[in-house]
Amino acid sequence: MIDVFVGLFEALDEAPKLPLVFWYVVWALFGLIVGSFLNAAIHRLPREGMTMSHPKRSVCPRCKTTLTWRENIPLLSWLMQGGKCRSCKVPIAWRYPLVEVITASLFVASAYVTGPMPSGLLAVRCIVLAGIVVATFVDFDFFEIPDQISIGGMFLAPVAVLLVPALHEETWLARAMTGDAALAIGGVERIPALVACFVGMAVGGGVLIAISWVGRLLYKRDAMGFGDVKLLAAAGGFIGPGGALLALVVASLAASVAGVGNVLRFLCLLRKRARQRDNGKPFAKSLASARIAGRYLPFGPYLGIGIGVVLLAWKNVVERFFSI
Ligand SMILES: [Zn+2]
Repeated sequence: MIDVFVGLFEALDEAPKLPLVFWYVVWALFGLIVGSFLNAAIHRLPREGMTMSHPKRSVCPRCKTTLTWRENIPLLSWLMQGGKCRSCKVPIAWRYPLVEVITASLFVASAYVTGPMPSGLLAVRCIVLAGIVVATFVDFDFFEIPDQISIGGMFLAPVAVLLVPALHEETWLARAMTGDAALAIGGVERIPALVACFVGMAVGGGVLIAISWVGRLLYKRDAMGFGDVKLLAAAGGFIGPGGALLALVVASLAASVAGVGNVLRFLCLLRKRARQRDNGKPFAKSLASARIAGRYLPFGPYLGIGIGVVLLAWKNVVERFFSI
């Protein structure tokens, strides 16, 4: 069964050679279309009574008009309708086209890193990035990561690794188990890649469980949601144990920068209000309030950034960080 799929991917690899730029355009358009499905997933997965197949067609959240295909074209419809519903003129959030453009950019970036010809490796990378986009935006809105993405990812990882062992081409464990002789001939083998996948899941989930355990001991409050644990566990299956740890480092850096930015944003707001009211509120007091207000940021989006960076640029990140 696996060989059938591998054969299919190899056949695709040998598809008639088309100019590379053609493939980049294809991936960009495909990304826009997938992005509009991701918008639906972001809207529906966290909401009761909605699934990906129900309702069948998207409706305007205000006037409930069912959208026609002309109102459903990724990016174009939004631009042509000036960002408004055609029936009731309610503004449509700019986040919809943004998600489509982000998805298209990620697909093109994957094609650039992996090679733009259709391949199993490129397909898996695009699927993982699509999952991260959904997890990120749902986490921003609801402070939770849908199980369909995190647990779904844990089930998908071993299957994907069996089909495309090259996912763990850079994973030390898979390389060591394959042995130099076999590596030189055909890259990492299937069973070593599968072992790297399971160890990656254990390390990804384990490190966050350990951190939240220590956090609870030190601060007496939950520092980490279980959704984050499941997300990094799933990611570890695709990027291996070292990749999962590196993703966490990148995520923590990104979250710190965002956290400081968020506190500054609240501080500016509070100072502005203090000036308007001219109440002479001391700066230190504003800073203390801003620190409390700015503390609550979901971690999932930054975890997503870390996973995405490692997935696409693992080698570059390692060289940049450790300069070895
Ligand atoms: Zn409407």
